[in-house]
Amino acid sequence: MPAPIRQLDQATIAQIAAGEVIERPVSVVKELVENSLDAGASLVSVEVVDGGRTSIAVTDNGSGIPRDELALAFARHATSKLLNARDLFAVNTLGFRGEGLASIAAAGVVELTSRLPGAEMGARIEARGITVGAPSSCAAPPGTKVVVRDLFALTPVRREFVKSPRAEFARISTFLSRIALGWPEVAFALRHDGKDVWTLPAVLDGVARLEMVFGAQARGALETLADDDAPARIVVSGYISRPGHDRPNRDGQVFFVNGRLVRAPQLAAAWLAGSGSFAMTGRYPFGMLALELPPEDVDVNVHPTKIEVRFARGNEAFDAVRTAVARTLRLSDPVRSAPAVAFAPAVRADDAEPAAHASHLFADSAAVESAFKERAANERALSFEEAPASNGVRVYGQIDQTFIVGDDADGLFIMDQHAAHERVAYEAILARQGGDEAGAPLLFPPVVELTDDQATVLYENVDALAQAGVVVEPFGEGAFRICSVPAGYEKRRFDLAGVLDDLSADDAAREGTAHRNRVLATIACHSVVRAHEALTLQEQAALYERLRRCDDPHTCPHGRPTMLRIDAASLSKAFGRT
Ligand code: ADP
Ligand code: MG
Repeated sequence: MPAPIRQLDQATIAQIAAGEVIERPVSVVKELVENSLDAGASLVSVEVVDGGRTSIAVTDNGSGIPRDELALAFARHATSKLLNARDLFAVNTLGFRGEGLASIAAAGVVELTSRLPGAEMGARIEARGITVGAPSSCAAPPGTKVVVRDLFALTPVRREFVKSPRAEFARISTFLSRIALGWPEVAFALRHDGKDVWTLPAVLDGVARLEMVFGAQARGALETLADDDAPARIVVSGYISRPGHDRPNRDGQVFFVNGRLVRAPQLAAAWLAGSGSFAMTGRYPFGMLALELPPEDVDVNVHPTKIEVRFARGNEAFDAVRTAVARTLRLSDPVRSAPAVAFAPAVRADDAEPAAHASHLFADSAAVESAFKERAANERALSFEEAPASNGVRVYGQIDQTFIVGDDADGLFIMDQHAAHERVAYEAILARQGGDEAGAPLLFPPVVELTDDQATVLYENVDALAQAGVVVEPFGEGAFRICSVPAGYEKRRFDLAGVLDDLSADDAAREGTAHRNRVLATIACHSVVRAHEALTLQEQAALYERLRRCDDPHTCPHGRPTMLRIDAASLSKAFGRT
């Protein structure tokens, strides 16, 4: 006998419906921020505790909600943004389904406080599940503040899917910085666990915000989209990367359609078509494209979270993007055209090709260099009859840009430049570990993309990394910002992804100090000079000097030798002189 068909109760219906809209903490932020933008706010501030699991608060200075409508705002399918079904085909607000607040209340405990700009008092209301309290008067600034606590307390299964607070916070930060790109005239602020993470003042255009999303390297790589003078049904604006600045995936492609942050495969395809003849396969341009078109030309009601849209005249949208992209790239002759003023970066030292010339290789290379010069001068002053100084060392050069050849009091040596530098860095990091000077903050924190696996390893080792001076912050979907690196190595490119890959490949279970030292060794390995890197003679000599000063100069932290030696006796023997 099949079970009889029954009508579900209201609470269950609410949870099922909410499940589509509120998937994780960032979904709450999205619904609330969209409401704030719809309310005409010029300031939106988001405050998150514990990645959103403990609380999420969104405050705006928008139009507010009248006291007698507060309860209605939480009713499902109650909205001020649509009058009738006809409006559904010309939506010009971000929300319109009237289920944002209802869905949030189904997933957590909500307290909403609001005051109309003209009103004397504000009012507050609480909602939880399908229970909505009665509004009470209170003092409040003009605008609306919504606080959501105990998200998914009522839906433990959902809660299971919520990742670590850091991962959830990263999603929130990504979302907010991305939506901020499309709303430059609105100021945004983000706080996490009581600390300011970032603030974006209102600006006239989106330029100032691009770095937030794409990282400092994006400066100078982006071209302002050339917009057509002729009035068109579809206006395309934004910023796209110039040829040669592509990324390996589409994550760097941000789309807005009428102010709505959307996933738009059809526009991504048009973008690629427009840059087709310039781009390499498997590489994707990055940037932001914003389309403005008559609302009746877009169907926004195809997805519960409105993340996808459908175009009534798909070909027109495709062509508008393709031609705008193609025209922009044609106009941007990377050789002749000066970069747009807004992007013109002051020439910065760390923009130089990393490691191409390793002249910043050693923190104290200048000191060592002058000591070396001094000694070299002394040596030349010595007569042949006198014994060479016991620390007399000559460096002849590199073999295969990997092995440094020289001689010292003990004879000929061949030094593995990577292993040697690894040892030097390892001991330096070990010595400074945990201290105030362990890390050197980076003025322009580079943004790197990490895979989910790499991010997981990052979160597992975040404390050990911080001890060594490596501070990394989430910076959006899969992106992380390297805020500080081990002191003394800030001029070199820090290979965070490499560190994480090595750590995850190491499956030996280590604990405590052994684990920590393993992390330090891995950091050292990815902070230093590698094989096949050209070094000046001074740098080679400096490396030799610093290796000699190590406590354990003979091996790298992984146990490989740093140096091979052939002394004079062995040479004599090899040549049959004995
Ligand atoms: P929707 O956004 O689809 O209309 P919501 O459930 O998100 O549905 O919000 C319901 C209504 O509550 C909105 O239509 C709006 O009138 C009001 N509202 C919600 N948030 C705000 C806000 N931050 N400022 C002003 N009004 C708001
Ligand atoms: Mg809404």
